Amino acid sequence: MIMKMDEKRLSEPTRLEAETEIKLKGATICPGIGIGQVRILDREFIVPRNEILESQVQSEQQRYSEAVKTVSDHLHEHIEETHTGSSLSSSLILKTHEAMLTDEQFHKAVISRISTEYKNAAWALEVEGEQIVAGLEASRSPYLMSRAEDIRDLVASIVDALSPTPKTYKKALRQDGELKVCISDNLFPSSVMEARRFHSVAFATESAALSSHAAILLKGFGIPAVGGLRGLRESAANGDQIIVDAVNGVVIIRPEPETVQRYITLKQELEVPEKLPPSPPISSRTKDGFDIHLMANINNPDQIQLVLRNRLEGVGLFRTEFFVLETESFPTEQEQFDIYHQVFTAAGGRRVVVRTFDIGGDKQIPDLHYCTGQNPALGVRGVRRHLLRRPDELQTQLRAILLAAVGFPVGILFPMITTVDDIREIKRLLESVKEELRAEDRPFSEEIQIGAMIEIPAAAISVGDILAEVDFVNVGTNDLLQYFVAADRDNDVVLRYENFENKAFLWLLGFIIERAAELGKEENVTICGEVASHPELVPLLLRLGFRSLSITPTSAQPVRNAIENTDLCVSSIKPTVN
Ligand code: PEP
Ligand code: MG
Repeated sequence: MIMKMDEKRLSEPTRLEAETEIKLKGATICPGIGIGQVRILDREFIVPRNEILESQVQSEQQRYSEAVKTVSDHLHEHIEETHTGSSLSSSLILKTHEAMLTDEQFHKAVISRISTEYKNAAWALEVEGEQIVAGLEASRSPYLMSRAEDIRDLVASIVDALSPTPKTYKKALRQDGELKVCISDNLFPSSVMEARRFHSVAFATESAALSSHAAILLKGFGIPAVGGLRGLRESAANGDQIIVDAVNGVVIIRPEPETVQRYITLKQELEVPEKLPPSPPISSRTKDGFDIHLMANINNPDQIQLVLRNRLEGVGLFRTEFFVLETESFPTEQEQFDIYHQVFTAAGGRRVVVRTFDIGGDKQIPDLHYCTGQNPALGVRGVRRHLLRRPDELQTQLRAILLAAVGFPVGILFPMITTVDDIREIKRLLESVKEELRAEDRPFSEEIQIGAMIEIPAAAISVGDILAEVDFVNVGTNDLLQYFVAADRDNDVVLRYENFENKAFLWLLGFIIERAAELGKEENVTICGEVASHPELVPLLLRLGFRSLSITPTSAQPVRNAIENTDLCVSSIKPTVN
């Protein structure tokens, strides 16, 4: 999940005008640097609303069916593309769109509206779509609310395909050899796919929906991207040169030649050659000589390659729930064994921390989740699912990890730990799984380490007791902040509270690391929330006392630079609250 910008930063004047070049400040979605020509993506849809004659009904219905097929074919191309080159979560999102496109009931309702209300196809579709969107938005489920955005995007795509001159579904996209940077007002998955078709070298958007599906797609494709850029559309025109600096979260429109040169050099410095021979991890050290451990957060087995290419020390967080989200079913023990074994082997001796399925909250799986009431984030999520409902799912996962980990340095991490009793119960379950394997005479890793996510304030306060029960803890600032300030991490309206620099939150982070230090266990604490991937916030974490970070692999270089430029002797901080 992407860290949110705080609203304060968003509401500051964002347009910093120089003589000719224009610099806008936003927030990084996917780190990197792209330089190219502006290509404006936004589709300004004006839904044509015409009443039709009875004699036109059939042809209008026919046109609707053809438009759906066009969009569907287009989507299939993208799904194939993502399967051959990207993350599981990217293809999952597109498959969700596909599922909506094949919803026969929806299409029947549109077709029937054409014949009963004599509306043209686009209008009938708009009315039907808005009805669904209204229902989804009235629900208080973040999962359903995020589906509303997907429905709007699909409606817009079908309306476009119905137009006599569709913009998105042109057979061949103009390629004039120039590198393109796609820019948009909104952040729709279809805009990201369009950007991909243009081989866009970067993406910039006014939208601040930095946790949206489209943002996840951008990260999955590794397209450098900046969001929350107020004034972008009015400042840039098609064909303008633009630099997207998704390391510092800025874009520069019509840059001066010296600025371009500076960025070409910076980009070369940041680039890791695709075919790097396997190299050992690079250690990171502050200006004044403190060693900082840098590991990676990965969401799927393929991303282990990014860990190696970016020369990180290992995997600090492997989010396994993404392969359940992908298939909407639980992999068998054998399937899981194969995935874990592949990752451990590819890691080449680096430590890998596998987090057990963190399902629930905003990561709902249709048909597989338990009714979690009005507040899914406060319901049956993470280990709660396993302790309260489905210990069998955890047993299968633990068996697969234990079996695959033989001979490899592996840790198992448990999400959504609330109390020390949760940990004790989990440990009993783990012991019973080990007993079972012993009885079956199956070799498994006896020395596997176990860890707890510290992402609930109660666990943060009990970190001393929890550390007495586990080998390590990971501080999950994405959730810790959401639960601490009681502000949904996916809700833009309460964005201002999602401020990592909130004094009370810094106090809590300071408390965690100090408590661990009192017990001589500060080395067993890693911070793995998105905050650690943001170079501008890294010095703050180091000054609080954290020495181990688990980050988005593509942020490795900017984070390393931030570490190397930090002098801890000059200023350490001890946050206080009154
Ligand atoms: C977190 O909560 O900070 C975390 C790393 O876990 P996730 O983003 O997967 O909830
Ligand atoms: Mg979390």
